Amino acid sequence: MTLSFDPETLAYPFYHIIDGERVAAGTSEGLIMHRPSDGRAYGECPVADADLVDRAVQSAKRALKTSGWSDVRPRERVKAMQRWADLLEQEAVTLARLEAASSTRPIAHLIEGDIAVTAEQIRFFAEFADKEGSDVVPTSGSAFGMTLTEPYGIIGAITPWNFPISMAGWKLGPALAAGNAVVLKPSEMTPFSTLAMAELAVRAGIPAGLINIVLGDGPTTGNAITGHPDISKVSFTGSTMAGAAIMQNIARTGVKPMTLELGGKSPQVVFADADLDLAASAVTRGILANAGQACVAGSRLIVSEEIAEPLSRAIARHMADIRPGVTWDEQTQYSPIISRRQLERIDTIVRRSVQEGAECVVGGRIMERSGYFYEPTLLLGVEPSSPAVTEEIFGPVLTMQTFRTEEEALALADHPTYGLAAGLFTRDLSRALRVTRALQAGTIWVNRYGRSRDHILPTGGYKRSGIGKDLGREAYLANRKSKSVLIDL
Ligand code: NAD
Repeated sequence: MTLSFDPETLAYPFYHIIDGERVAAGTSEGLIMHRPSDGRAYGECPVADADLVDRAVQSAKRALKTSGWSDVRPRERVKAMQRWADLLEQEAVTLARLEAASSTRPIAHLIEGDIAVTAEQIRFFAEFADKEGSDVVPTSGSAFGMTLTEPYGIIGAITPWNFPISMAGWKLGPALAAGNAVVLKPSEMTPFSTLAMAELAVRAGIPAGLINIVLGDGPTTGNAITGHPDISKVSFTGSTMAGAAIMQNIARTGVKPMTLELGGKSPQVVFADADLDLAASAVTRGILANAGQACVAGSRLIVSEEIAEPLSRAIARHMADIRPGVTWDEQTQYSPIISRRQLERIDTIVRRSVQEGAECVVGGRIMERSGYFYEPTLLLGVEPSSPAVTEEIFGPVLTMQTFRTEEEALALADHPTYGLAAGLFTRDLSRALRVTRALQAGTIWVNRYGRSRDHILPTGGYKRSGIGKDLGREAYLANRKSKSVLIDL
């Protein structure tokens, strides 16, 4: 297996993985890829058609049958997945170089964050394989009842470009631990690390064909996966718009369960009694991580008017402290934007908001350097109807709105369509619990913003931010179906 990559020659290999083998790429339909760090074009992503997706599905079917992955002693699954996690750690530097060169993820964050955490999560999910089982349920004395759980078979997984390694881990970890095979389509913008992860899985002894990777776009490859009759469940992470299109395709081609992890527009609510220094740095990190290109980006600051001024000044200071750079430089802390198109979209929304009356106190411009970098941006005086407040910008843009009462804070925090995450900062425990209950979001962080290594906590959206959960025990269970059995004694 080759994980090597040379940033100068831009020699990326494009291929699909079926039966554990590299499969020649095929047509590209003009999906030309550019590196976010310097804008250089490096190749064309191939697009797997319905026939190739079917080959991947047939491979998964054969692998399930011949390897007995669903039926082997569950400890064998645990051991193979642990070896896979070990290999991810051993190859972390090479894997990080490969990922950094084509994505928005800085290499330092990849090694200490994405890859290290993904290896831990794979071990975490593997451990469910021989610990979660069927349940005996209470029935009348003359009968014996139980619920058996079984893998679905083949899971169709589709991932976004913003955290390619983590997202592949979230899908592959629980699906494999639960005894399934997977056909996975990574984002056409960032396919390389997913290919490398699949090859490491084979090297770790996970049977070839259990993980098949097909490259391509949404309309052709994505549709072929979600509509394939032998794919029993779909697990998707991406935008709400694509999630809705997937629901439609599933309804059109058959009925199957799905997990949808979708977009967000998450609030960070700071009360007057909060620790100001802590809130300022957490709020800034909450919006600037991956330059705001995170589903849980805390893009709406909602602050008590008593502390609005000192807080906005402290955030502005933190924002000035960023270190942009090419993602393969170990000093880089601040990410580029994924594409020129997205860079321009961010700029358009900021300009429109300013035209409509917002005051831009920090940033608000495309950076003057090669690559696609946008200045960390703080907008004050935004109307609730401003596009900067309502739309998922997916960039380093923080809006600030002020409140007088807790009720007002909650009303501002509530987004009409999204409910992925929310943060709140206060020293008052009763208020923290009260507000936590009232906030309509799948994840709430108190006096912090962002995930830690608590893989046991599931993640998923309220409202149109999604259906179902990734991570946690729920993600493992979501990869198994249950069968009820009643035996008359
Ligand atoms: P996207 O929806 O454009 O694409 C995501 C993936 O879906 C890609 O692989 C794409 O090729 C595929 N796709 C697009 N249309 C499809 C279709 N009709 N059928 C099947 N597949 C299709 O999203 P993106 O730009 O890659 O990622 C950013 C979005 O992802 C943001 O909205 C962000 O909030 C969301 N996201 C959510 C989470 C979460 O856990 N909730 C995590 C990361 C990203």
